[in-house]
Amino acid sequence: MTEKVALVTGAARGIGLATTRLFVDAGWKVAMVDRDLDELDIAAAEFDEATADFACDVSDPKAVDRMVVAVTDRFGRIDALVNNAGVADFAPIEKTDFAMWRRVMETNLDGVFLVSQATVPALKKTGGAIVNIASISGLRASTLRVAYGTSKAAVIQLTKQQAAELGEDGIRANCVCPGPVRTKLAMAVHSQAIIDAYHDAIPLNRYGTETEIAEVIVFLCSDKASYVTGQIIAADGGFESTGVGLPALRQG
Ligand code: NAD
Repeated sequence: MTEKVALVTGAARGIGLATTRLFVDAGWKVAMVDRDLDELDIAAAEFDEATADFACDVSDPKAVDRMVVAVTDRFGRIDALVNNAGVADFAPIEKTDFAMWRRVMETNLDGVFLVSQATVPALKKTGGAIVNIASISGLRASTLRVAYGTSKAAVIQLTKQQAAELGEDGIRANCVCPGPVRTKLAMAVHSQAIIDAYHDAIPLNRYGTETEIAEVIVFLCSDKASYVTGQIIAADGGFESTGVGLPALRQG
């Protein structure tokens, strides 16, 4: 049986690392891509020859091209691309300076565009899948997220564009919108007040785990999802489906 190969960006920790683990458990090879070399080394040490690590900043077009060549040289094929690398920087509109805006956009949006474009030729050969990681912050507006939320809303639209254009090449493109997960990214921007507010607004009344998000990602990359494309799937404990009033209803 041909061994399938996934390219996962932001694989050094958090949701990307959990996704790598599930792919390896399912018998896939994984190209682990990250710009944080120290964390990438530590993470990759957990796996044997099932993975290879590639240092790359996904917002750098030349580095991305070099990385995709290195991945195809190493593994010979790419069956799935998971655009997971992301950064979060929260601030009010008037305090979001252009440098912060660009920092968020260049990884969260430019990175998804660049890595997808560089990977399409390999995905055409395998009839592969793209899974982009957006956020519930791309589905609903909230305070402090003018850059982050806008970047994630754009990733949702980019996914639909990819599905529309690449479908005839047999490439599927879907988007996962995680709710809150206690990763380094989230804990850097989630104050206790934000954590409490999330718990109040989420029917399941808790944060998700990295593995719960990874399960959805790996399913969408698998043949089990062979007729699913252009979909935006929230793995969010029900956050997106609700309106106001959960805390009051729980007490009633
Ligand atoms: P994390 O910070 O734990 O991991 C992100 C990884 O991406 C890190 O290893 C980091 O080094 C890497 N990375 C960042 N910028 C990069 C770049 N330009 N090039 C290459 N690598 C880069 O974060 P996480 O929580 O696991 O987030 C993964 C994805 O899930 C992100 O896109 C994030 O926006 C999204 N998300 C997370 C949450 C949450 O609550 N944790 C919620 C919704 C969406």
